[in-house]
Amino acid sequence: MNDAVVFSGMVPEGRMRVSARQAFALFANQLKAFYDHPRPCSLGFPRQSIYNLFVPILKVLDRKAGSVTTYDCIIIGGGIVGLTTAWELSRRGQRVLILDRREIGREASWAAAGMLPPVDIAAPTSEFQSLFRYSFDCWKQTGPEVAVDASINTGYRQCGSSLLYPDKIHFQTGEKFWQSHGFQTHPLREPAPIEYPGFHIHEHCQVMPRVHLDALATACRQRGVEILEHAELVGFIEAGQGSQRHFEGIATQSGHYRGHQILITSGSWTGQVIHLAGILAPTRPIRGQILLLKPHQPQDFGIIEMHFRYLVSRLDGTVLVGSTMDDVGFEHGVTEQGISTLKSFAAETLPALKEADVLATWSGLRPSTADGLPLLGRAANCDNLWIACGHFRNGILLSAGTAKLMTQAMLGESTDLDLKPFSPSRLS
Ligand SMILES: Cc1cc2nc3c(=O)[nH]c(=O)nc-3n(C[C@H](O)[C@H](O)[C@H](O)COP(=O)(O)OP(=O)(O)OC[C@H]3O[C@@H](n4cnc5c(N)ncnc54)[C@H](O)[C@@H]3O)c2cc1C
Repeated sequence: MNDAVVFSGMVPEGRMRVSARQAFALFANQLKAFYDHPRPCSLGFPRQSIYNLFVPILKVLDRKAGSVTTYDCIIIGGGIVGLTTAWELSRRGQRVLILDRREIGREASWAAAGMLPPVDIAAPTSEFQSLFRYSFDCWKQTGPEVAVDASINTGYRQCGSSLLYPDKIHFQTGEKFWQSHGFQTHPLREPAPIEYPGFHIHEHCQVMPRVHLDALATACRQRGVEILEHAELVGFIEAGQGSQRHFEGIATQSGHYRGHQILITSGSWTGQVIHLAGILAPTRPIRGQILLLKPHQPQDFGIIEMHFRYLVSRLDGTVLVGSTMDDVGFEHGVTEQGISTLKSFAAETLPALKEADVLATWSGLRPSTADGLPLLGRAANCDNLWIACGHFRNGILLSAGTAKLMTQAMLGESTDLDLKPFSPSRLS
């Protein structure tokens, strides 16, 4: 097929020959400018979806012309960190490809409980605490906007949390910590477990991670992000030698893809993935097991936490019980001992859960790093290879802030928070 078409009316002299691709690209660019225009559309149809209709046509024409699409950004790993960053980048007009070796959102992010606390008593550094707080605030925008973009209720809501302590001394330390961060502590609410001292913090939020992941995928697709599943990264395509290493693209078993920027968000597997480029950024999985209960009487108490154990009540009346910390490498699955510990915790904390039915059990691999801080920023000695991983127990909460900061950094803007304390080079 001859893909050159006659395109009339482009120049005053008369007719001009342009390829079909150029013609469609011109048309699509006009539509894109139309979509990006801040003024609302007076005709009342969705500008983005019309523009997106042209993306597959452009791809087919690209293929016919033998040219290869160059994405603004290729993201490796479709967990919550990769998907939220893809969504953020696409909102800034970037053409994004995100690929995952499985279905997207089926690893740690899928397993999570979805608690979104405003600060972390276990924060290893003050910079981490600032990142935590920043991300909690980002969620107030990201949570509702993703839900609206996808027209899906993700269960993002302020639900409050009852914090319990094993004794008076820990209780006093906890209370001091929360008050020093500007939060008021309130008496425990009913149904409050009376054996333990504790207080209630109203600000805690929660989201249903699996529904939020579905919403993110829908919102990403609607914004033109291409999602490639069952595509495992097997290598990087490096450009010639310079003072900084530069990568032109990546390779999967089924094809090569070009990108101006490459971002690794492969969770616990990031260390292995980045090693394919000869770069050291060690990450280590820590397994967590979870139990889902259906009490005979529906429960809605928000969250109850004691150290690393917690109960999360969902709007449908079910209760999540988490979690264990198992240092067992890349081994998925639950154990009899893990689940029985969670059952005992649930029954001791809220006797109403003693007789609850077990609906499901599952596990996930939290991505951890040696110093407990995430890796956020450019990979060592590279100019266009980026890493965002190592969020350990807080990746759902930290996803919103991470996505904003990584987007700013990759677009060459100044970042809302200094990323130096999280530089991946520190572990190289
Ligand atoms: C039981 C449990 C409860 C949790 N509860 C909470 C909570 O309440 N609140 C909170 O904030 N956090 C919680 N977390 C932590 C949170 O789930 C993680 O920190 C977060 O999900 C990490 O997200 P991620 O996108 O970095 O990784 P992942 O979700 O693991 O995604 C990484 C993706 O990369 C893909 N990938 C790997 N290798 C390759 C490759 N070679 N090529 C292509 N793709 C690849 C994987 O298939 C995967 O989809 C919990 C975790 C667990 C396990």
